[in-house]
Amino acid sequence: MKDKSIAAVMEKANEPLRMREFPIPEVKEGCVLVKTLASGVCGTDVHCWRGQVKMPLPMILGHESVGTIDKLGTGRSADSMGEPIAQGDRVFWVAGHPCGKCYGCVVLKDTTVCSGRRAYGTSYSCADYPYLAGGYSEYVFLTERSFLFKVPEAVPSEAAIAFGCGFPTAVKGFEVIGGVRPGTSVLIQGAGPVGLSCVVLAKLGGANPITVMGAPQARLEMARRLGADHAIDIAPLARPEDRVKKAREVAGEADLCIEASGFPGAVAEGVELVRANGRYLVMGVFSDLGPAPVNPSIIVRRNLKLFGSVFWEPRHLHEVLRLLALYNDRLKLEDAVSAKYALENATQALQDVEALKCVKAIISPCAA
Ligand SMILES: [Zn+2]
Ligand SMILES: [Zn+2]
Repeated sequence: MKDKSIAAVMEKANEPLRMREFPIPEVKEGCVLVKTLASGVCGTDVHCWRGQVKMPLPMILGHESVGTIDKLGTGRSADSMGEPIAQGDRVFWVAGHPCGKCYGCVVLKDTTVCSGRRAYGTSYSCADYPYLAGGYSEYVFLTERSFLFKVPEAVPSEAAIAFGCGFPTAVKGFEVIGGVRPGTSVLIQGAGPVGLSCVVLAKLGGANPITVMGAPQARLEMARRLGADHAIDIAPLARPEDRVKKAREVAGEADLCIEASGFPGAVAEGVELVRANGRYLVMGVFSDLGPAPVNPSIIVRRNLKLFGSVFWEPRHLHEVLRLLALYNDRLKLEDAVSAKYALENATQALQDVEALKCVKAIISPCAA
């Protein structure tokens, strides 16, 4: 076992990440040391790097990762489903840690609204023990509080990480709204990992038609490949009214509209595209980019049901891995990984994700 690990560290917002070396702490009871195979570069990482998310610095970014178990602490012999685990097994770990003490955790029993939630890659500074608490690192140290799941053997690591935290986010969002039924018309705003995951879930539920609005072309092609009936390129549609008009022409009104774009302004357009008695799920605008005006009269006159959904629980990641075990031979989500970066090129990865150059970018600190 190595006693040091290299990581790409965010020391200041907007500055290049720096390669730093950290000591690997002793793997105590219940803890797990993993060697990182792939860390997704999430849109949230870009917001973090741009200083739009409050976090302690220095920070090792990366909250969606797959790795192989390098060392298991005593007492850790199974994953969070009770599946036996051993050195060398591939696992996908849950970045978030609920506090277990707040109103959300105790009364609501919904850890996604935990007020004391902390997460690898966003809340633990690498200045503090156990240092290696983010995926942009050769090794990640999972404390005894961490949930983790074995990646099914038939599922390639890149398929598991392809939509990163976006996939369990979408699974939880679908749970919140009660899913789709055969023939539900679905309009998805945004063709990033959350939007593309929604395409998969809508298709599996029999939704029709499924329409995605987004950019760039490579993401829209992936949306079509995953089952979208229509994919609207918003690049030439600069004004909100142009986008609404186009969506109505192509898809009509939607029983269900999903905001997976991350842009506050999308909400005003989304409510215009939902049919009477329809549902609108807002899931993409995670980072607080400020308010955006919405016409509330539309919500009243059409009996709209509005839903918000944030984060996900360990079971949603388990559902993603089960879904991949069942369907990835035809989904082939590994094809969505369109750019791979070495750890030292992590800054470039953030820039490319920000510029929407990739369907999904991953950092591979230690190739298999
Ligand atoms: Zn994420
Ligand atoms: Zn809590």
